[in-house]
Amino acid sequence: MTELIDGNVHAANVRARTKVRAEAFAASHGRKPRLDVVIVGNHPASRAYVSTKTKMAHETAIDGRLIELPETVGKDALLAEIARLNADPAVDGILVQLPLPDHLDGQMMIDAIDPAKDVDGFHPMNVGKLFTAAKIDPEQMLIPCTPLGSLMMLVDTLGKGALSGRNAVVVGRSNIVGKPMAQLLLANDCTVTIAHSRTRDLPAVCRQADILVAAVGRPEMVKGDWIKPGAVVIDVGINRVATADGKSRIVGDVATAEAMGIASYITPVPGGVGKMTVACLLHNTVVAAEARARG
Ligand code: NDP
Repeated sequence: MTELIDGNVHAANVRARTKVRAEAFAASHGRKPRLDVVIVGNHPASRAYVSTKTKMAHETAIDGRLIELPETVGKDALLAEIARLNADPAVDGILVQLPLPDHLDGQMMIDAIDPAKDVDGFHPMNVGKLFTAAKIDPEQMLIPCTPLGSLMMLVDTLGKGALSGRNAVVVGRSNIVGKPMAQLLLANDCTVTIAHSRTRDLPAVCRQADILVAAVGRPEMVKGDWIKPGAVVIDVGINRVATADGKSRIVGDVATAEAMGIASYITPVPGGVGKMTVACLLHNTVVAAEARARG
């Protein structure tokens, strides 16, 4: 029997806890925690993501604002916008929605964000803290949202301490998902393997995993027979594929139907990790607001 890890339920719990904190913050500081999301251009998926983020922010007692800049905005104008938000004491969290148009360097923009307001957790200073801290504490640090949400679901599902000593395989080594995910699993005492496009015999590597995280961006690449019986599978992938009727649907990086009956737990796509990503962004916004208020 494979149980689904319901991202909607986990995310609702995180948002409920975050809302209580946001309301307490507003009561003691006379303003809500504030998240400013910067979007450049008209990328349809990015537009959908940012409107979900600001809508969820409002539902969580956070002042979520959208700053829309044209596709043609130049490097200096975008840097000036980030500098303005850095300098505004009422702004607690800044998120520049990626990917940016080709003429803009995403890492340059991330580097320009005040690390104390970097609610995506992508600034090199926050990345450095994640990789060097003696103890990783999501209440004290700004941790990338997708890996943080994935870890929270694992801990909530298996129980605190249950990750210790388990073999974890993370497929994908991006800065936003794979690497921080591996670091969080390591901090929870897993024995971690990071796999990528050059990994030899990937199915055999995956079959070693008690915990298998797929963050690849290839529809249903991880097959049922890559999964160790009883493994916990976290499917980070979000891939839009065409259907026979000329429409499209979203699938993950794991062939979920094949995994059923083999894995012990699996996150569905949609309705899994994606929900937690937004919830953790709101969590990070409140963490940033509280830390800034403490000074
Ligand atoms: P990237 O494209 O940045 O990284 C993909 C990684 O997968 C790379 O490390 C790449 O290896 C590896 N890879 C690609 N092809 C293969 C292969 N055939 N075998 C093994 N490894 C392979 O993607 P992201 O990390 O940004 O995103 C991964 C997925 O997660 C995407 O589907 C994305 O949409 C989704 N996502 C979901 C989020 C959510 O909220 N649920 C949030 C962010 C992302 P190499 O380094 O060698 O090229």
